Amino acid sequence: MTRTDDALQPIIIAGAGIGGLTAALALRQQGHEIVLMDKAAALSEVGAGLQLSPNACSVLDRLGVLDALEPHACAPEYLRIRSGQSGRQLGRVRFGDYLKQRHGYPFWVIHRADLQRVLQERVEQTEGITIRLATEVLDLEPSPYDHLSCIYQSDGVTANLSCKALIGADGVWSRSRRIIPGHENAKFSGQVAYRATIPIEAAPTGWRKDSGLWMHQDSHLVHYPVRGGRDLNIVGLAKEAWKDETWSARADAKAVLHVFRDWPSEVRTLLGKTENWLKWALCSVDASGPWSHGHVALMGDAAHAMLPYMAQGAAMAIEDAAVLARHLPRDVANIPAALRAFERERKPRVTRIQGIAFRNAKVFHFSGIKALARDTVLGLSSPETLAARFDDVYGWSAGN
Ligand SMILES: Cc1cc2nc3c(=O)[nH]c(=O)nc-3n(C[C@H](O)[C@H](O)[C@H](O)COP(=O)(O)OP(=O)(O)OC[C@H]3O[C@@H](n4cnc5c(N)ncnc54)[C@H](O)[C@@H]3O)c2cc1C
Repeated sequence: MTRTDDALQPIIIAGAGIGGLTAALALRQQGHEIVLMDKAAALSEVGAGLQLSPNACSVLDRLGVLDALEPHACAPEYLRIRSGQSGRQLGRVRFGDYLKQRHGYPFWVIHRADLQRVLQERVEQTEGITIRLATEVLDLEPSPYDHLSCIYQSDGVTANLSCKALIGADGVWSRSRRIIPGHENAKFSGQVAYRATIPIEAAPTGWRKDSGLWMHQDSHLVHYPVRGGRDLNIVGLAKEAWKDETWSARADAKAVLHVFRDWPSEVRTLLGKTENWLKWALCSVDASGPWSHGHVALMGDAAHAMLPYMAQGAAMAIEDAAVLARHLPRDVANIPAALRAFERERKPRVTRIQGIAFRNAKVFHFSGIKALARDTVLGLSSPETLAARFDDVYGWSAGN
């Protein structure tokens, strides 16, 4: 289907999360008019920390936002892996300068709100991108004169806007996904994440600079500094049923301490330092399912939400944005073919990383002989060897 005035039509992006904001900047760099719609009345990124690996940083650098992020980021020198039973250090993974030299970009840890704010500010300063908040994308329909019509709702009123393509960056509970025939719904993994931040002074000195991963049977804990080192981000992950009506809920220290009841006192003392816990149901979307149909394509969690056991969900959304923009130059002749090519290029990588995250979900929670074997390998491996295991994940760059 060709449209002579396609160049004048905007691309509509549903969802102004990390993926949608990055896609808006990347597609605008190609010269497209962008309308970015989000159903939220204000963009306030809930949740806490985010690990921003070199592959994500390479895209953010090309979009010119890396410098603005630096004051908010920390670059831990090591990931220290410990036993959640004995507290013993099992191994170390080299991050910091080592990964930066190896891949050309830093491995940062950052508060999600800082990343979201920097991206949003850049989007708002960019001519040719319009943000419409409190606007929920509902559907995409053909309309007269061979145009496409994006149906949306704002202030309780349903309206439509002509566009040349719709990018569904609307997260794990994506509405855009329903437009794609054969799509599957998100699935609950049977695991939940408890997340909080505390002032860095409340943490023991050994916890303040490096990242930490503690592994125990059926649960694990991750922590790292955020907000330029002012706060410590803590995420505790465990097997648990989900009974709440929504997929995130408040939790208190009592509930968290119950889940981590047989953990070392050093950890339990820290978990008790705040009452402000958020609990998240961990859900995933099978990345091997369809991501595109005609003039609609999904990206980020809408296409491939994954368990956070590789800390690559947002990184994959950021990579998606760069690859999508590469397939959609301003004078793109055939948008459906370009969106199919985007899907073909991204799927193998994302599916593989989603698979590693699923595998890690098992490995982190091993017990008995399997845990012993895992811990022995960790103990025998150098920090550099452990870091090099993910060269193909972290070494990806936007130019590829
Ligand atoms: C505990 C935990 C830890 C994590 N840690 C990391 C990490 O360290 N590193 C990492 O890379 N990733 C991590 N992730 C994953 C990461 O958070 C997600 O992959 C990422 O935020 C997805 O971004 P997104 O833009 O695709 O979706 P979202 O951030 O979910 O954004 C979707 C947006 O769409 C909007 N929306 C929804 N429906 C509509 C509609 N119909 N119309 C308009 N707007 C709509 C929503 O309001 C929202 O703003 C973690 C996840 C969890 C749960």
